[in-house]
Amino acid sequence: MVSNVCVLGAGRMGSSIIRTLLDRGYPTWVWNRTAAKCSPLTALGAKVAPSVADGFRAADVVIINVLDYAASDALLKQDGVASVLAGKAVVQLTSGSPRLAREEARWVEAHGAGYLDGAIMATPDFIGKPETALLYSGSRSVYETHKSLLLALGGGTSYVGEIPGQASALDIALLTQMWGGLFGALQGMAVAEVEGLSLKMFRSHLSAFKPVVDAALFDLVDRTNVRRFAGDDATLASLAAHYSAFQHLLEVCDERGLDAAMPRAMDTIFRQALSLGRMEDDFASLAPLFRNGSPHQSRETAHA
Ligand code: NAP
Repeated sequence: MVSNVCVLGAGRMGSSIIRTLLDRGYPTWVWNRTAAKCSPLTALGAKVAPSVADGFRAADVVIINVLDYAASDALLKQDGVASVLAGKAVVQLTSGSPRLAREEARWVEAHGAGYLDGAIMATPDFIGKPETALLYSGSRSVYETHKSLLLALGGGTSYVGEIPGQASALDIALLTQMWGGLFGALQGMAVAEVEGLSLKMFRSHLSAFKPVVDAALFDLVDRTNVRRFAGDDATLASLAAHYSAFQHLLEVCDERGLDAAMPRAMDTIFRQALSLGRMEDDFASLAPLFRNGSPHQSRETAHA
């Protein structure tokens, strides 16, 4: 049976979701705060829901994709919506934190609807492609019942677990790894240019180095998973070897007047491990240092 769908939010991502659903033959309603954004979608066959509550009444599955949870919360908690939630499947595709997902799940489920929280690991142009990954956590029953619809949005879709915040947590974890690489690239480009190298040259050598970096990354994850921190025959480079090479980055920054905020933060982490006598340990021995955040490092104090 093909479900009726309503998408709340016709921004860049919401519109792409709607176009994909229409393309796959799903009867699709749309509601957007700025009604004009619905016009290109109605031209493709979408029906406009005059209100959020009307959207819930029309659909079995309601996909929410607005800017943030504050906006989503305001839509759900307005007059007339709570009373039409019972029996519906709510698929939250607005980006948020694990805590926000847990809170939204509790509220939605308390009103008789099933709740699935999703993280879209792609940009709008990738929606509907076989390789596109969306992560879901929350109601297994909603996921299984509407799996074909969810797979229509991305063939690489997967179910992470029943705890609603887990998809968001995995999203944050993966993005953290991405930001590490992107911030590293910013620092690396500054080094390259200050030493007279072209970014074209930097780019071409990134490709050649990538298999080595990927291997080190997966080795780090695998070792951390089994807590194999001591250096052994399979260790690719000891902490001492890493730290010795890392000194050259500090030196270039110092000599050429480059911003060294990020290298200094990395230096602090290296030094913590070295003060514990871990010179010959694997790079993975840094992992425990990332699990002992102090309350003094909360966002508020960090920004003060
Ligand atoms: P966008 O193009 O800026 O669209 C934002 C949408 O949210 C619009 O429909 C907007 O309505 C609506 N909105 C904002 N504030 C609202 C409010 N107070 N009440 C009701 N509706 C409100 O953003 P987007 O790129 O589509 O992103 C939407 C969500 O997808 C975000 O949570 C984003 O993090 C997530 N996401 C985006 C990407 C991406 O590459 N774009 C990738 C992964 C996840 P109006 O049209 O009325 O302004």
